[in-house]
Amino acid sequence: MATERFSTAVICMDGRVQGPAHAFIQGETGTTFTDTITGPGIEKQIDEIHDLDVDHPKVADLKTKLTVSTLGHNSEGIVFAKHNECLGNPTLDEEEKDRQLLRGATLIERINTVNGVGDLPVFTI
Ligand SMILES: [Zn+2]
Repeated sequence: MATERFSTAVICMDGRVQGPAHAFIQGETGTTFTDTITGPGIEKQIDEIHDLDVDHPKVADLKTKLTVSTLGHNSEGIVFAKHNECLGNPTLDEEEKDRQLLRGATLIERINTVNGVGDLPVFTI
């Protein structure tokens, strides 16, 4: 168990994109396993709640999942990713998707800070 090292991916449920995201974060962190927090167009979902308090009920699901991965598995890094042709976030404006990622990452970082792992790297790709 001590040799099992984890990272975290926060990414769309689209089956085309999880493998590449796992490869990215495993390459950045040297980890073997990647916990996956997912949903359709999850960067849009998180953007919609990004300015809420970390104890707000709408944040509870994300907070619970991040806590399991970062504290339960001692995750060594998080990738928060968008992708093209997303049915859950169908905007064709890639700059808007980038803004969603950056705003959403601030919520992920605030949850990490509350959990005492504020120094955990969060990559947006
Ligand atoms: Zn998608």
